Amino acid sequence: MEYRSVWQRKTKKYPQLKKDADRDIVVVGGGIAGYLTAFRLAEAGQEVTLLEADRLFSGTTGRTTAKTSANQGCVYSELFERYGQRVTELYYRSQTEGIRLFEELVHRYGIECDWAERDGYIFSEDRRYKIEALHRVLRRVGADCEVVESPELFKESCALKMSGQYLFDPLKFLSALPVRFEIFEDTRVVDIDPKKKILRTDGGSIYAKKIIVATHYPMINSHGGYFMKLRQSMSYTIAVSGKGAEDMYLDEREDGLSVRPYAEGTLLGGGDHRTGRIDDKRHFAALESSADKLFGRKNVTHRWCAEDVMTFDGMPMAGKYSKSLEGIYVVTGFNKWGMTNAMVCASVLTDLLLGKENPYAEIFSPQRHIKKSFGDFVSNALTNVGGIFLGYCRITLKTAKDVPAGSGMIVFHHGKKRAVYRDLSGELHVIGNKCPHMHCELKWNGETNTWDCPCHGSRFDIYGNVISEPSTKSCKYRREDPEN
Ligand SMILES: Cc1cc2nc3c(=O)[nH]c(=O)nc-3n(C[C@H](O)[C@H](O)[C@H](O)COP(=O)(O)OP(=O)(O)OC[C@H]3O[C@@H](n4cnc5c(N)ncnc54)[C@H](O)[C@@H]3O)c2cc1C
Repeated sequence: MEYRSVWQRKTKKYPQLKKDADRDIVVVGGGIAGYLTAFRLAEAGQEVTLLEADRLFSGTTGRTTAKTSANQGCVYSELFERYGQRVTELYYRSQTEGIRLFEELVHRYGIECDWAERDGYIFSEDRRYKIEALHRVLRRVGADCEVVESPELFKESCALKMSGQYLFDPLKFLSALPVRFEIFEDTRVVDIDPKKKILRTDGGSIYAKKIIVATHYPMINSHGGYFMKLRQSMSYTIAVSGKGAEDMYLDEREDGLSVRPYAEGTLLGGGDHRTGRIDDKRHFAALESSADKLFGRKNVTHRWCAEDVMTFDGMPMAGKYSKSLEGIYVVTGFNKWGMTNAMVCASVLTDLLLGKENPYAEIFSPQRHIKKSFGDFVSNALTNVGGIFLGYCRITLKTAKDVPAGSGMIVFHHGKKRAVYRDLSGELHVIGNKCPHMHCELKWNGETNTWDCPCHGSRFDIYGNVISEPSTKSCKYRREDPEN
């Protein structure tokens, strides 16, 4: 079994930034959002530089399931209730436009990326009313879809079926696009001075005329208030080999099952939960048992997990970083629909920078008023404040002796609270108990052997290295002998 996604393979290596520079447009973040935005701007004749902290597509993009679909479950019912017909219709149109733009690029450049048309199903075993409500809304916004009984894989369910949806291999696609812009890898932006537009990295600083923050979770805390408007949600995925699903399926429940075929078998995903809100559920085991039920005993070849940024209304954010900042833009909040949304947001940002109108700029504006979000806002704020409070005030009587081998725990250690992991040989791996981003207390995730932040979703390995933003800093690490 491999502990990586089925897409992750060697990509071309780009240099590291090693000296100070002046540039026109700098995109920070080499996931699908940053890469497509850089691609579109370069296509429009702009000079663009992309800075990536690690390797291109090493973030969530490398761990997606890459359904390129407008059949996105109950988001349409929720949008209709929140904003009414016009916005719901615009969002639906944006997603079909996203699919069209992918198709156009695949054909224009003859990209071999397993691009394939499939039916998409949103299914429910026991909440038929949800499927029927979704159908009513989608019909009102002009979508071609139908309610069907007992779809092939989920015989006990009813489902909303939409034909003409797509699947692909995202890394094959992105790596095959012509690169007409400058790229630096292993170049983490550790700080942005938003007024002077200076980006600092360990290898040098760049002064940019315009900056696009495409770091998945936005990295500037002093403007925009994103840490109050967003949360991160984790999902787990396994790949099983051999003949399995033909089409795409998604349970209408937020933490339900997602299924799609790929070149060598089937991907099953699910177990979604707010990052850092760890329960004792065994998500990978649950996915394996679903695979057994659906396809009989199968060989699990890969397993991985990843998180995505969620907004309160289910639509992404692409536009000015904040009203008061000139020349700084952001793209984030794809709600696990980052293929179509990254494609559309790349056009929204390109048009914005070129001073052109875009039909989706208004609904994706980061400054939009999110209707009926008071409850979400309060619950998010309480989680964030609670996380900081726990970091400073929660008392623990546990010590390093209480940490079982192969597990981690927040304990009282040498006079301070620490996050301690004990490896199988008994050695202790010790880091601070607080996330460097905004000082929330970390939580141990035994499924992934990581320390996760419940407030904003930063994640760290047992050595304290940051593996998921928004933290730009790692935690101080110390290895200790078990006798200590
Ligand atoms: C399990 C899972 C399944 C999904 N399945 C689907 C699906 O089927 N269909 C779909 O449409 N969407 C899906 N999504 C959503 C989609 O994968 C994501 O929305 C999308 O990949 C996010 O892309 P991104 O470019 O915003 O982020 P990322 O891919 O994470 O890219 C951000 C990049 O920024 C870099 N970075 C961060 N901080 C810095 C810094 N300070 N300096 C420089 N670089 C930095 C990171 O290293 C990273 O490479 C799924 C998401 C998950 C978690």
